Amino acid sequence: MPDYVISPPQPVTLPIAGTSALFPVRRVYCIGRNYAAHAIEMGHDPDREPPFFFQKNPDNLDPSGVFPYPTQSHDVHHEAEMLVALASGGTDIAIETALDHVYGYGLALDMTRRDLQGAQKKLGRPWEIGKAFERSAPCGPIHPVAAVGHPDAGAVSLTVNGAVRQSGDLNQMIWKVPEMIAYLSMYFELVAGDIILSGTPSGVGPVERGDEMVMSIDGLGALTVQVI
Ligand code: MN
Repeated sequence: MPDYVISPPQPVTLPIAGTSALFPVRRVYCIGRNYAAHAIEMGHDPDREPPFFFQKNPDNLDPSGVFPYPTQSHDVHHEAEMLVALASGGTDIAIETALDHVYGYGLALDMTRRDLQGAQKKLGRPWEIGKAFERSAPCGPIHPVAAVGHPDAGAVSLTVNGAVRQSGDLNQMIWKVPEMIAYLSMYFELVAGDIILSGTPSGVGPVERGDEMVMSIDGLGALTVQVI
C-alpha cells in the first residue's frame, strides 16, 4: 500500500449493460456543435469547420438516474448525446482503424449551465463552470460493441415530462465517431478508459426541479433521469 498522505480518490466506473462488470473511466472528451441544426439554434454557421472539444471531469459521469439542479444557475439545459467508450487508444489514429478502439456505446446527457456558459463565451473564457460541474453528465450503462455493433444511424430523442424536446438521428452527426477519434488523437494521446460525448441534436432547452427526462437512442435503450 503506497504511503498516501490523504485517502486516494475512488476510481470512476460505469456499469456494463446486463452484467456486473465495470468500465473504468480515464478522461471525458465532449465535441461541440456536431449536429447542424443544433449549431444553427446556438447561433453558429453549420458549415463543416474543424471540430472542437472540451472536457468534463470523469467523476461528473453519474449513472444514478438523478440530476441535482446545480448551484449558481437559473438556465440549465439538457443535451442528449451518444457516449463512446474506448478500449484502447494511441496518437494519430487513422480514421479507417478508429472504430477498432471502441469498447462500447451508451446514452449520456451533457447538462449545461447555459447562462454561465454564455457569459464565459462572451468573455472568451473557458467553459468549465458551464459544463464540468458536479453530476453534470447523467448516463446509462455501456453496451459493448459485441452486443450492439457500431451505431451510426438511428433515432436520438429526449422527452421532458413526456413532451418531445430533442429528436434527431445519429446519421446527422457532422463529425462521425471514427473522425472524432482520429481528430482527438492528433492532439491528445487517447487511452483505454477514455469517453467521448458525441454531440447533441437540436432542441436543447431548460429543465426545472421535478422534471423527468427520458432519453433514448435506437439500439441502445433508454435513460430516465429525475431532476431534483
Ligand atoms: Mn454537448
